[in-house]
Amino acid sequence: MKVLKFGGTSVGSPERMKKLLDIIQPEERQIVVLSAVSGTTNSLVEISRALSVGDKLLAEKLIKHLHEGYKQFIQELFTTEEGRSNGQELIDYHFDLIRSFNTSIFSPIEEKIILAQGELISTTLYHFYLTEIGVRSKLLPALDFMKIDEDNEPLIDFIGKHLKDLVLAASDHNLFITQGYICRNAFGEIDNLRRGGSDYTASLIGAAIRAEEVQIWTDIDGMHNNDPRIVKGTRPIANLTFNEAAELAYFGAKILHPQSVFPAQRYNIPVRLLNTMDPQAPGTLISEVAQHQDQVTSIAAKDGITAIRIQSSRMLLAYGFLRRVFEVFERYKTPIDMITTSEVAVSLSIDDTTNLKDIEAELLDFGTVSIDSDQTIICIVGDFGIHKHGYASRVLDAVKHIPLRMISYGGSDYNISVLLSTSDKVEALRSLHNRLF
Ligand code: ADP
Ligand code: ASP
Ligand code: MG
Repeated sequence: MKVLKFGGTSVGSPERMKKLLDIIQPEERQIVVLSAVSGTTNSLVEISRALSVGDKLLAEKLIKHLHEGYKQFIQELFTTEEGRSNGQELIDYHFDLIRSFNTSIFSPIEEKIILAQGELISTTLYHFYLTEIGVRSKLLPALDFMKIDEDNEPLIDFIGKHLKDLVLAASDHNLFITQGYICRNAFGEIDNLRRGGSDYTASLIGAAIRAEEVQIWTDIDGMHNNDPRIVKGTRPIANLTFNEAAELAYFGAKILHPQSVFPAQRYNIPVRLLNTMDPQAPGTLISEVAQHQDQVTSIAAKDGITAIRIQSSRMLLAYGFLRRVFEVFERYKTPIDMITTSEVAVSLSIDDTTNLKDIEAELLDFGTVSIDSDQTIICIVGDFGIHKHGYASRVLDAVKHIPLRMISYGGSDYNISVLLSTSDKVEALRSLHNRLF
């Protein structure tokens, strides 16, 4: 069975939604994962923000605007009276629910319920549309099988078991549709897999049912060798290994959710990145097989990084020092991205600053602590095995006019990373692109 995920722009208009049937073959057994209609989750975030600060007027204005947009959407999506009336009833139900939070207390629990409405709407609208045109499909509620634990880690076995039960119970269907992004947490509450999480949903489903292949359909012809929003002349990469794709996704290539490669990788399920606007384009195949050697493959950038330096005379010749430093981050459940050490200091970078104040207070026990925010990690992925030479110098040469905060090389065979001020990111990406490709 294949898993096909369509992102926000791929379902972004009634016309686009209808065109999905150029790609989906309804008679093939498959699970289709849909994102919310593009722009919807951003609007739901804004509505939640207004509600959380008690700005009821702004919240109502935003809700009304989004609701009106959907009224227009269903007029164009459906052609029969019955279809339109079902669509209308559906969106009214979801918007009544969103409005109901304007008169109640507002906590992160309510916020997550609001954020879930986009995918609940898009999938049901699409299912209704297929029904209207006589294509059989079965809606699988993601909230009945997609589950994470207290540490936000997905429970693959739970997901697999519950999903298989749902599919088995509807064994007279071939085409299954489900929501990306949304899930239940350890407390049974509605939660989500973070922004862009529909890719993660697709990979988790692929892993959980040991799918034949996961296809991520989006608005570009695969993973490009640099960020196409910033650099001109980028081109798609035909093949990536799981490790390369994971590094690029984790370090900012927006086409893939940061964690979305790992589930597929664990069960060796190929992932294809494909373009809904150009379905014939080959896209990118992510698999175990390395297709290119001795070259730089791609560049990505991740913003919002904070660098922390701990300077300590006690580090000198002391074993156990790094462990104690890491334990501080572990206690605050804060992942470390990059790390560089000297004999008297260690620098590391984090992107989750929720507990930075407490972390800093504990680190002060070790020595002097200095913190720099607004940093960007630039990650260069390629074939940099330990017997290769010249790559580090080419990378550093390309950014020699830019101050670097940290450099990381040798952590793996396929990644060189540099940390620099976000204000230098655009120049660094362009210069690296010109020099490396
Ligand atoms: P979807 O809504 O389908 O999930 P996204 O907007 O999340 O789509 O991801 C696709 C976008 O990612 C592209 O339109 C492109 O602008 C951006 N992007 C950033 N870096 C890359 C990259 N290295 N390769 C391809 N696309 C990238
Ligand atoms: N709709 C969610 C978002 O905008 C999930 C996704 O599109 O992947 O973040
Ligand atoms: Mg996305």
